[in-house]
Amino acid sequence: MTVRLGIMGGTFDPIHNVHLLKASEAAHRLGLDEVVFIPAGSPWQKDPRGVSDAEERYAMTKLAVAPDPRFSASRMEIDRAGPTYTVDTLRELRRLYGHRARLYFIAGADVLGSIGTWHEAWSLKELAHFVFCSRQGYELADGALPLRDRVTLLHVPVWEISSTVIRRRVSRGQPIRYLVPDPVADHIVRRGLYRAGAH
Ligand code: ATP
Ligand code: MG
Repeated sequence: MTVRLGIMGGTFDPIHNVHLLKASEAAHRLGLDEVVFIPAGSPWQKDPRGVSDAEERYAMTKLAVAPDPRFSASRMEIDRAGPTYTVDTLRELRRLYGHRARLYFIAGADVLGSIGTWHEAWSLKELAHFVFCSRQGYELADGALPLRDRVTLLHVPVWEISSTVIRRRVSRGQPIRYLVPDPVADHIVRRGLYRAGAH
């Protein structure tokens, strides 16, 4: 039997409800059996001083996916040394699953504009199918993609939520309840993440 495996890559600093909503919507629309959330170890296109510790991001990801039996979290990218490249992750998953899985990489429309700059961008489409979800402020069109026929564009209910918004709200003392799962909000308070001056 072939598993239809969704892959949610991201920094997840922190994971929020739109990440979960997107995964759920992609699972429903594409008939995915599972979705694995893989926090990036060293997101090389972001300034490392602005990124929280990988273990904190992984802990929050695990808490967020726990209630949904279709979802899981993977340490694959945090345990790999060096900068995090999606192409390495897809190759590793291919090695692990062989022909037993079809891979669907799920991303937001903001990624459409930058995926051409990813490491070995040209080989990505050999390794997975790509699913791009609508995101406020970004056009959902596959014009300049090196991926061509390996792309599905998916309209999901659009919310203006981002991890940046969550971090800003925490640093300003504003509530984040209902924007992130409760256990993630509790973790952020308990660990003192994103407080004013922490970044
Ligand atoms: P940051 O603001 O720190 O960049 P983020 O909210 O964009 O965080 P990431 O971890 O950078 O979250 O993104 C992981 C994936 O989730 C990316 O594919 C991104 O496009 C997607 N994503 C995040 N927020 C949304 C949203 N509100 N709508 C659609 N896609 C989203
Ligand atoms: Mg982002």
